Amino acid sequence: MMRPMKLAGEQLMFGSGCLDHLKTLSIKKAVVVLGGSFFHKSRFMKRVKSLIEEAGGETAVFVGVEPDPGLKTVLRGAEFMLQESPDWIIALGGGSVMDAAKAMWVYYEHPHLNTLEPLMDKENFPKLRKKAKFICIPTTAGTASEVSRSIVITDDETGIKHGIGNMEMMPDVALCDPDLTLSMPPHLTAETGMDALVHAVEAMVSRRANYLSNTLAQKAVIDIFQSLPIVVTNGNDLAAREVMLNASMIAGLAFTNVSLGIVHSMSHSVASVFKTAHGLTNSILMPYVVEFNQADHQAKVVYQQLASELGVEDFASALRKLNRQIGIPTKLEDIITDKDAFIEALDKVVELSIADGCTKTNPIIPTHEQFKIILMKAYQGI
Ligand code: NAD
Repeated sequence: MMRPMKLAGEQLMFGSGCLDHLKTLSIKKAVVVLGGSFFHKSRFMKRVKSLIEEAGGETAVFVGVEPDPGLKTVLRGAEFMLQESPDWIIALGGGSVMDAAKAMWVYYEHPHLNTLEPLMDKENFPKLRKKAKFICIPTTAGTASEVSRSIVITDDETGIKHGIGNMEMMPDVALCDPDLTLSMPPHLTAETGMDALVHAVEAMVSRRANYLSNTLAQKAVIDIFQSLPIVVTNGNDLAAREVMLNASMIAGLAFTNVSLGIVHSMSHSVASVFKTAHGLTNSILMPYVVEFNQADHQAKVVYQQLASELGVEDFASALRKLNRQIGIPTKLEDIITDKDAFIEALDKVVELSIADGCTKTNPIIPTHEQFKIILMKAYQGI
């Protein structure tokens, strides 16, 4: 079947030092969007400011995007942009900052909007780039938001995490400089790295998988299995950090075109209720989903091929072994200790998972009961 593939925006730069590419752009005023004070005070922020100056521009900074950003923060950021009138928006941070900044961009371009609904209208998605273009500089190696059409924004009223995708939101420029990922502590390195692995594996068994997405995703799987334990043990290994950021990015090129599966649906839904970290929840769920999906012949073949490339017997066991090696818990109970609350929320989590956009490309669309079984197995570790 004919399938379109969009591989990143106008410019995709990668490799140590590629941050310097900023100075080659024509910038009048840039708004840089950041998370907490960590990067605000860092030498990287100073460098970004001076590169923007070299590019002939001024800098204004919006600080304060929280992990799993909510719409309120997004609207505050858009308000800031309306005051500053940037011609470039630069997201410097992890997936939370990049997603929030992409959403701010939409509301900056269309100030009459103030809800998430118009962004969910695939056919009439608001047009961007009348006021500003968009740059992503990832500081984690996991979400690949720098090359994705997606954002995940939390509805502050309901707590629900909405995954929204439209190619209009593909960043114009992505600067994947591994130097900015060196400061990640081991647990963040592990969780975000596993997020990238889950992207690659879910893309490979997606109902929309194709020759090109598989080529990218397969390379990402092999590289992450090799390099993730290295960077978790030695965060200063720049070469391995670079492999991880590149692998995360190519997994993103794949999944943003062919979508994901039920690890992501369940992870978004569990996090909507229990506020668990994205990469951590994904990595715990992944082996259970591989075991469930093996009932699909094509998915089973993909997992067997991956196992054979990795030189292991069984792919789900290899995922469990990698999780253990990098300090990821084996079951959801380890991160959601209130079992009664988990059981009470189970139907809601299942309903949210069924409604999640990632479910429709999973090799098997689980029934309500099957979702419950997978979630309970993942909770108890059986
Ligand atoms: P994050 O952006 O939420 O960051 C987690 C924490 O790490 C934050 O406290 C942040 O300040 C800190 N941090 C970030 N970079 C650091 C660094 N280099 N050194 C030290 N600390 C650092 O984490 P994430 O996993 O990158 O992003 C998760 C979010 O992205 C979730 O909301 C998830 O749903 C979303 N997501 C989006 C996509 C997409 O395609 N847009 C894909 C996957 C996940």
